[in-house]
Amino acid sequence: MAILNDVSEKLTQVGQTVTQKTKQFAETAKLSAKVSEEEKKIKECYVKIGQLYVSKLTAEVEPEFADLVNELHVCEDNAKKYKDQLKGLKGYTVCAKCGADVTVGSAFCNTCGAPMPVLTPVENTEDGEDASDENAEDKVD
Ligand SMILES: [Zn+2]
Repeated sequence: MAILNDVSEKLTQVGQTVTQKTKQFAETAKLSAKVSEEEKKIKECYVKIGQLYVSKLTAEVEPEFADLVNELHVCEDNAKKYKDQLKGLKGYTVCAKCGADVTVGSAFCNTCGAPMPVLTPVENTEDGEDASDENAEDKVD
């Protein structure tokens, strides 16, 4: 009952002054934002801890980390594969400053931020004279 009394007392207080209510609302929003901010930093710390752990890995992975580390490597491989596919689709150029791959049409290098020269992507007209060996798997029913 003490809790109920406490709650009803607080509700009464809030009802009494709108100003108080507004102030509490603002305070709540402010504290919620601070909670989010701290939680974001906590996640960043976990990410850094994880990256540091993986970077210090030698041959032996502790068993309880093995699954996660394996999953990480699978995801990294997938990301690389998808990036390569993207490069193939969009075409890419190489940043003159840092050497990173930059998608054709990007105004700036994603890695170092250097401005990229405006390039016209090579027109891929259907000349049909590509000698790629992909034709073997070309047949789709
Ligand atoms: Zn660059």
